[in-house]
Amino acid sequence: MSARVIPPISPTTQPYWEGAARGELMLQQCSACGQRPFPPHTHCEKCGSAELAWQAASGKGTIYTYTISYRAPHPVFRDQCPMVIAVVELDEGPRLMTNIIECDPEHVAVGMAVEAAFEKIDDSDVVLPVFRLV
Ligand SMILES: [Zn+2]
Repeated sequence: MSARVIPPISPTTQPYWEGAARGELMLQQCSACGQRPFPPHTHCEKCGSAELAWQAASGKGTIYTYTISYRAPHPVFRDQCPMVIAVVELDEGPRLMTNIIECDPEHVAVGMAVEAAFEKIDDSDVVLPVFRLV
């Protein structure tokens, strides 16, 4: 089995990945205007400030939209199908693309409450934020 693609980790995104490894979903918040840029930025996307502070998010959100993949887009995902690929809207506002795990895909619906879970990628130190139904 070939290896999963590992997300590139830069100085800008490093606190996000370090948080995931600890089991925390980390978000930036602009100290000047309160905006929560996502994915991580070097500057606020709203006001341009470089004063972005990292905070642990609640890990709670709702399914904004989703699709079910019955065919693996790559052989490494073969044993994960059918898999739910979703956009989750966090209670703090940002939306992120993720997977909904440990569920019957046919019972997933827009608006369902979810909470963060963390899934280590085999043969790497990378932990991916994923979500499960609550
Ligand atoms: Zn700002």
